[in-house]
Amino acid sequence: MSDCKLQEIYGSHVFNETVMRERLPKEIFRELKKTIDKGAPLSPQVAEVVANAMKNWAIEHGATHYTHWFQPLNGFTAEKHDSFIDLGEGGQVITAFSGKALIKGEPDASSFPSGGLRATFEARGYTAWDCTSSAFLKEDSSGLTLCIPTAFCSYNGDALDKKTPLLRSVEALSAQAVRILRLFGDTKTERVQVSCGAEQEYFLVDKKMWKQRPDLVFTGRTLLGAKPPKTQEMDDHYFGTLKERVSAFMKELDTALWKVGVPSKTKHNEAAPAQHELAPIFETVNIACDHNQITMELMKKIADHHGMVCLLHEKPFAGLNGSGKHNNWSISTPDGVNLLNPGKTPSENAQFLLVLCAIISAIDDHAELVRASAANAGNDYRLGALEAPPAIVSIFLGDELTEILEQIETGENHFTKFGGVLDTGVATLPNLSLDSTDRNRTSPFAFSGNKFEFRMVPSSASIAGPNTVLNTIVADAFSNIADRLEKAEDFNKELHSLLSEIIKKHKRIIFNGNGYGDEWIEEAKKRGLPNINNSVDSYAAFVAPESIRVFEKHHVYSETELRARYEIKLEKYTKIVGIEANTMLQMVNRQIMPASLRFADETARAIINIKAAGCDIMPAEETLRKVTKGIAMLHKATDKLEKAVEKSDRYAGDYVAQAKFARDSLVTSLNEIRKYADELETIVGKDFWPIPTYDDLIYSV
Ligand code: ADP
Ligand code: MG
Repeated sequence: MSDCKLQEIYGSHVFNETVMRERLPKEIFRELKKTIDKGAPLSPQVAEVVANAMKNWAIEHGATHYTHWFQPLNGFTAEKHDSFIDLGEGGQVITAFSGKALIKGEPDASSFPSGGLRATFEARGYTAWDCTSSAFLKEDSSGLTLCIPTAFCSYNGDALDKKTPLLRSVEALSAQAVRILRLFGDTKTERVQVSCGAEQEYFLVDKKMWKQRPDLVFTGRTLLGAKPPKTQEMDDHYFGTLKERVSAFMKELDTALWKVGVPSKTKHNEAAPAQHELAPIFETVNIACDHNQITMELMKKIADHHGMVCLLHEKPFAGLNGSGKHNNWSISTPDGVNLLNPGKTPSENAQFLLVLCAIISAIDDHAELVRASAANAGNDYRLGALEAPPAIVSIFLGDELTEILEQIETGENHFTKFGGVLDTGVATLPNLSLDSTDRNRTSPFAFSGNKFEFRMVPSSASIAGPNTVLNTIVADAFSNIADRLEKAEDFNKELHSLLSEIIKKHKRIIFNGNGYGDEWIEEAKKRGLPNINNSVDSYAAFVAPESIRVFEKHHVYSETELRARYEIKLEKYTKIVGIEANTMLQMVNRQIMPASLRFADETARAIINIKAAGCDIMPAEETLRKVTKGIAMLHKATDKLEKAVEKSDRYAGDYVAQAKFARDSLVTSLNEIRKYADELETIVGKDFWPIPTYDDLIYSV
């Protein structure tokens, strides 16, 4: 693709600033920009003009419908399509799209999870235009649809989606960050923004094989499957040459993403066979979040065009690398000054160190909440399973920065007044970006030069939740720091003692070593860091008094909204495990068991026949013994799961008890069945095995 072509394609399906500037009267454009940049209220008159321009633009591109596009609490995106047609006087068809229809929608939303926030008698949810995220045209075989990114709330204004709290958290962080900037003499900056680049990992498998695996179809992961002779031992897949089919998929994906303005940048093979990654160029977090949703949706859709299925599950294959989403996060001013960039002047350095310490204290104070923000049923097979990252939240800073903090703590590095500005005495700071070369890949929260990389985030989930938590807890840390420093009589002295206090109190969260090692688990325990190895327990952090306090203080979630989310998360966990259990039962009873019996039967006949022919048959007898024993064990384990599934109904209505039962009984049982089924797979002849194996699946494309 030539440069010209690329530029022509990029954003061609987005009602972006360039299009608005072209199509809107100057005055209207200026008003809308004010709303986008400063959050000023949008007048109905402006909305009317914008809606009309948007409609004309969409129709010129061939769109016939529009939809409010929102992100309900099920983690997906939702849409309800309306056409632009209306009936004019005399009954002739005209096209219409009013300002009101642009700004507000009322989808009947009774089927979206609300955790009791929206009583069924008031089943309506309201969608409201988020004009900071551009409208775009979604393309599929039926044509183009104008998608208007919206927030989704109930009649009382309770957030029923993921976007609203994220937007609120950015506001909160911005307000508190500006207080920090003021302390260092910045009198102009009115708001800061959060930048985010979410690297998306995924697997591709052949669709024909996928269809033959009920577990992949119903649960998105393999519930059974013996490890093949070769997976990722040779490291030959990581960054390896792309296969034709995968490469064609990636090309189509890139083009589709570019059209809707998603800045897809890097693509490569990941560690496990059939695993890949896409990294976009970072954007404002709210837009990055919308774009990540679009990316996941397009990955699934486009894989299908190539006879493949895209698996976004965190652990589609046991024993192989799982998938995550590396959430790169930083804070910057509208002029592009990154607060996580070590500065060039001593004063900038002091500000950088303060921001850094604020983040360290936030992560340590709310480690359980941070952990919870990345929890889901799938991630339980990833976090803490001696694979990318452990379930213990810690921060990687690198040796250089850690040393500087140690010096500040011990007071070795005196702050001095130096020509009127504050001198941290740390002359080496500007070189810190070098640090990004000595990366630590095992840390869940790693500083990489000018951003933090939160690596626990699950591959299938929206990034809204984790970023909402990060923004809010850092806002709170900024707020506490500003409260103290704004009152200080001697700013420099107070700043120094504050930094040293924070470091003393929170340095336990800093860990630069190997996060996968067993020693770290021991060490973390000694340091008093929480190690919560399952999502059910971790969710409790959402309703812990300290979390409620912080979220309410910064107007991100009300207690009611938090309790609703807690309930929804537990319920979702229970449902996922329930589906897994039923799928497993179906597969074992209708596929694995009959196949194993057929194999046993054939082996038994062979033994009889061969014996009759007067030959020794010891090895076959041994095989038969193993298979029949395996069948017996499998039956026992399946029986246990069947009983447990029946029992789960007992806990209906009690979300916590239900989820705990699912975790303790169903998941344990699932693992046990898997063990016996996988053993059988290694004995039963390949011709008899009723489903594609791991070898088939991971080398299928
Ligand atoms: P990696 O080695 O992890 O691939 P990269 O430098 O390639 O690191 O960046 C990974 C992701 O981080 C990309 O999506 C990139 O756009 C994003 N990123 C880079 N700088 C920032 C920043 N200042 N804030 C947020 N995200 C960023
Ligand atoms: Mg990364």
